[in-house]
Amino acid sequence: MDLDVLDTVLKQRKQPAFRRRQIVRAAQHEFKGAWSELTTLPKELRGQLEAEVPFSTLTIDLEERSSDGSVKLRMLTHDGFPLEAVLMRFERGGAGKEGREKLPPRYTACLSSQSGCALSCTFCATGKMKLGRNLTRHEIVDQFLELARRRQSGSPDGEGRIDNVVMMGMGEPFHNYDEVMAAIRTLNSSDGPGLAARRIAISTVGWVPGIEKLAKEEIQVKLALSLHAPNDQDRGLLMPVNKKFPIARLMQACAYYRAQTKRRIFIEYLMLDGVNDSTEHAKELAHLLNAQEGPGGFHVNLIAYNPTGTDYIGSSDETVRRFSTILERSGLETSYRVSRARDISGACGQLAAPVEAARRRQREEKLARSKARDEVPTPA
Ligand code: SAH
Repeated sequence: MDLDVLDTVLKQRKQPAFRRRQIVRAAQHEFKGAWSELTTLPKELRGQLEAEVPFSTLTIDLEERSSDGSVKLRMLTHDGFPLEAVLMRFERGGAGKEGREKLPPRYTACLSSQSGCALSCTFCATGKMKLGRNLTRHEIVDQFLELARRRQSGSPDGEGRIDNVVMMGMGEPFHNYDEVMAAIRTLNSSDGPGLAARRIAISTVGWVPGIEKLAKEEIQVKLALSLHAPNDQDRGLLMPVNKKFPIARLMQACAYYRAQTKRRIFIEYLMLDGVNDSTEHAKELAHLLNAQEGPGGFHVNLIAYNPTGTDYIGSSDETVRRFSTILERSGLETSYRVSRARDISGACGQLAAPVEAARRRQREEKLARSKARDEVPTPA
């Protein structure tokens, strides 16, 4: 819900101050989905709000469920910009083991900060869309609320909460810094979902001004840095942004962030066969990260490549194991991120792939139609 529009309407209607809080709590804390569910509001006011304040800033364009229990929503802003959000379901251990209860699965909401993205990373589908526009704080929060409502209504396992939020959908969060931070404050607030800040992560391409600004924030969100290569030459080929902020500059920003916050930084490293996954790369990465920090400064997330119609191929399991062993022997903690929702193109870097596919289909259909027209025999 666009709270600025709500404020204007409440003011026009000379409503008492507590109304806003009542409405915000119903929408953001109790996850109500429509004005008709706010039965404690005076009927006349409810009718007015229904007519003048859309309950969500987003409309659902497509809803897909993955075989792994994840859900992807494709949505449109009021002015027609597409974006996607994914609810990822992670099974946890304990299944079938004697004397151990199965732990309930965890749910992570992956949200977009922009429609499209201006940074054409070569392996990512969103970059191919180019930038549509920044999303507002309300549009970011509404993605979460859409997922939270689905989580609550279809909850097969527990009370229906979402455990974590990652700003890893479409877009570069630090190109939309103020709106992203405002949305995070809302997700964190006790009148809203009340999600602890340490359960919220911002993932950046390495936009240095954003890292330095985040370092000064009071709020304890996690920082993830998409590094993907340990030297400028290789990183430059994968991520054009490396020209603007080369690795030495990035490491300087990381040192500053660490000094300010004492929090560790999560390094995202996509494993691409024959591109950045050699033994040399692993040693170089270990050296780079260990040269900056004492133990515990960085945690490395190795990421499986999700196909996006490029020539890249993901590294084999054996290569990933070898790579992570080298990092761990050097004292770095690592994990290998299991992709979610791949079968519905809801995994990292695949967002927007369906938009591209839809466009391709449209082009093909058009071509087929014009061909068909040409083939219609003209009457003599
Ligand atoms: N712009 C931000 C957040 C969006 S992408 C950033 O770059 O961090 C979230 C993560 O998914 C990033 O680490 C990104 O590099 C990674 N990613 C992009 N394309 C991918 C792909 N095809 N397979 C796996 N991960 C991918």
